[in-house]
Amino acid sequence: MLDAVTSLRCLICHRSYRSDEIDYVCPRHGVEGIVDVEYDYERIAATVRREDLASEPGPGMWRYSALLPIDSQVPRPPLLVGDTPLVPAPRLAAEVGVRRVWVKDEGRQPTASLKDRASAMAAVKALEMPAVDGDTLGTSLDPSSTVITTASTGNAAAALAGICASMAIPAVIFVPASAPAAKVAQLLAFGASVMLVDGPYDTATDLCMAAAARHGWYNRNTGFNPYMTEGKKTAAYEVAEALHWDAPDAVVVSVGDGCIIGGLHKGFRDLLALGWIDRIPRLIGVQAEGSDYLVRVWESGSDVLTTPAIIPTTVADSISAGLPRDRIKGLAAVTATHGVFVRVSDDEILAAIPDLARLSGVFAEPAASAALAGLRKASDLGHVGPGDRVVLMSTGSGLKDVGAATAGAAAVGARPIEVAPDDEAVERALAEHHIT
Ligand SMILES: *Cc1c(COP(=O)(O)O)cnc(C)c1O
Ligand SMILES: [Zn+2]
Repeated sequence: MLDAVTSLRCLICHRSYRSDEIDYVCPRHGVEGIVDVEYDYERIAATVRREDLASEPGPGMWRYSALLPIDSQVPRPPLLVGDTPLVPAPRLAAEVGVRRVWVKDEGRQPTASLKDRASAMAAVKALEMPAVDGDTLGTSLDPSSTVITTASTGNAAAALAGICASMAIPAVIFVPASAPAAKVAQLLAFGASVMLVDGPYDTATDLCMAAAARHGWYNRNTGFNPYMTEGKKTAAYEVAEALHWDAPDAVVVSVGDGCIIGGLHKGFRDLLALGWIDRIPRLIGVQAEGSDYLVRVWESGSDVLTTPAIIPTTVADSISAGLPRDRIKGLAAVTATHGVFVRVSDDEILAAIPDLARLSGVFAEPAASAALAGLRKASDLGHVGPGDRVVLMSTGSGLKDVGAATAGAAAVGARPIEVAPDDEAVERALAEHHIT
């Protein structure tokens, strides 16, 4: 049993299980039966104070171990996961018309996206699993005897491949053939076994889930493995801690499967339950127009469990999801915090790449710049205003998709000045472009 965890509760039937009773989902509800990890907050509050977190041993996200569902015996990945900067962006705030903006730069993670928080958690949980052959008691601490698998639009896969490489754990990855080249290059470089699926992310997920069950691999899939939310929630802890526990008014984040926004919600809920913050920010979920399942469900009030999948199309590959796998938690994050969902066009997403870079210094991939496009929309619609302190989640690095960044720059008219290799030509060009 894990110290601070009291139970795993099914989000559909609300039945609760001990943490050693089920591995992933509520058995009554199969793959849909996503569970929430519940904690004994009194016990946590008795062992750790928020002032002490900064000096807790363990780098990055492991400083919050007292609030995480992990066994203290199991090794952590040697890579630094977490501790990403919260970058003040006053020019962006002025342009959008809100009081303050900070950009949480998750592009600074070891594999360059927020997914490292979840994949690091997956590696630790996989090593906690009882050894499969049954003749060793305790955990399967030999990393090479554990195989971890996931399907992904690219970043969760790159994160898992990188974390696994750092710990010598074999990884089997299923990605759609349309994943950006940089993400596939990361997988191959990290030495993962890569299944490039001729089909969308949703198909890759189905294939991965089936193979995991057949082979007994540890399953990291989003919206199935309950601990991914618990890894991602550490981003909310860092935001609150960096703002000296004065929670922002709103947090804007792009949404594909809904796991990140659900994780942020969980993190802020934990902090509120511990009395470390006094309110939860409004969570503003941003989806691409061509992949707007959760916006539609939120607008229409239809049932998130029975609304059929859509066929997603967007340049923002990391938020392309026909049937968001973590949609129960994703929807609840917005409704329970009195937030909103907004949709943005691919053109707005691309233009937001140079926009965010120019106004804050943070270089984002399309799924991350979508948050800025969404903040602009939320401001236009009056969902955020001049009194608000806002955190913008930049979930992945611009280097993940150089093609999109190039298209975004071209869309806002940013282009290089071609110049012959001599000083006079340089001076002529500078004069022509009024650069002094
Ligand atoms: C995965 C991802 C998202 C969306 O997260 P979900 O949990 O799928 O909603 C957003 N941005 C980036 C860069 C991602 O990798
Ligand atoms: Zn259930």
